[in-house]
Amino acid sequence: MTKCISNTAKSIPLILIYQIVLEKKLRFNSLTIHGGQAPDPAYGAVMPPIYQTSTYAQTTPGGHKGFEYSRTHNPTRQALEKSFAHIENGAYGLAFASGLAAMDAIIKLLKPGDEVIATHDLYGGSYRLFTKIFETYGIQFQFVPMDEVKAVATYITSKTRLIWVETPTNPMMNVIDIAAMAALAKAHKLLLAVDNTFASPYLQQPLDMGADIVMHSATKYLAGHSDVVLGALITNNEELADRLAFIQNASGAVPGPFDCFLTLRGIKTLHVRMERHCQNAALIAHYLAQHPKVEKVYWPGFENHPNHNVAKSQMNDFGAMLSFVPVGADYQAAIKIVEQLQLFTLAESLGGVESLAGHPASMTHASIPKEIREKSGVVDALIRLSVGIEDVKDLIDDLEHAIG
Ligand SMILES: *Cc1c(COP(=O)(O)O)cnc(C)c1O
Repeated sequence: MTKCISNTAKSIPLILIYQIVLEKKLRFNSLTIHGGQAPDPAYGAVMPPIYQTSTYAQTTPGGHKGFEYSRTHNPTRQALEKSFAHIENGAYGLAFASGLAAMDAIIKLLKPGDEVIATHDLYGGSYRLFTKIFETYGIQFQFVPMDEVKAVATYITSKTRLIWVETPTNPMMNVIDIAAMAALAKAHKLLLAVDNTFASPYLQQPLDMGADIVMHSATKYLAGHSDVVLGALITNNEELADRLAFIQNASGAVPGPFDCFLTLRGIKTLHVRMERHCQNAALIAHYLAQHPKVEKVYWPGFENHPNHNVAKSQMNDFGAMLSFVPVGADYQAAIKIVEQLQLFTLAESLGGVESLAGHPASMTHASIPKEIREKSGVVDALIRLSVGIEDVKDLIDDLEHAIG
């Protein structure tokens, strides 16, 4: 765990203190580059070196420079954790070996008998982690629609400990009111964790809306180049940060220094990438909406999207994920369309510079039983797009060719 502002003032060189003062005034588009970062103390390297080491020399037992063993601390990871904290406007950042490893650490805050209320159309891997791993340890999960915050209250029992929110949801692009959910959680003394993977902190900062913990699959928009798998947790709560850091070290699902370096490098362009991602997605959403062979497009930027007003008030833009259903298509017809795409790569994942297409029913959501998945709208014909930052005209040409 890394506090975004170093804890021991004594050890901070003057130049760093100056930088911390400066950071307080920095805006998001500068924090992505400078948040928590300073030239490396050894030689002034502007990017933190990849400290590819497992251990650190001690002059006498305990006589070290703050680093003992790389599962616990690593300077490259620490630089990344500081960046995580800054871009989510939090005090503490923690890096994990994957998004799911980060989620795993949150659920390990609970104990057998505890209950969790989670968004019903969750990322498939999150659903699998909850039901296939943690239910066997006696933690109960309820998957509920969260459009109506009042309705969520009816699921709270004396054993509920945590509300788990994913917004926008995957792949239906429902948007959940984070501030209203935070108020509900506070009223019942529950923790609120938000999976902010789909939006990224460029679009929304859940801690500012009252969430206790923000989680990211940094694999997606934060790292942004489809070249690393990594997870993040951010919180303002010192006690939670300590407990999560204990789990991070004790369970040991930490990322290697090279992956931390790549993620940190990715974050430096997050704001420029997101701006283009969102522009391209808006154009594609409108293109699909007027297409005679497209029945339905799910994208929160449309005024007739059921959660458009919430999206407008809590997000800075509408994101670059969208789903659509071709007219009269079944499972096979949808697969045929994604196979015909050439510029959109057929692949799992999202959030990279390159555009990806997916077929949730057979890919990301294949582990969710058909009846459950269809109840939340993930029908056999649904196609999901992660809109990249290529020239949007080329992307539209590709869709035109595939949809025909
Ligand atoms: C990918 C993803 C995860 C899991 O993250 P990994 O880095 O693949 O472990 C969790 N939540 C959402 C919304 C995701 O898209």
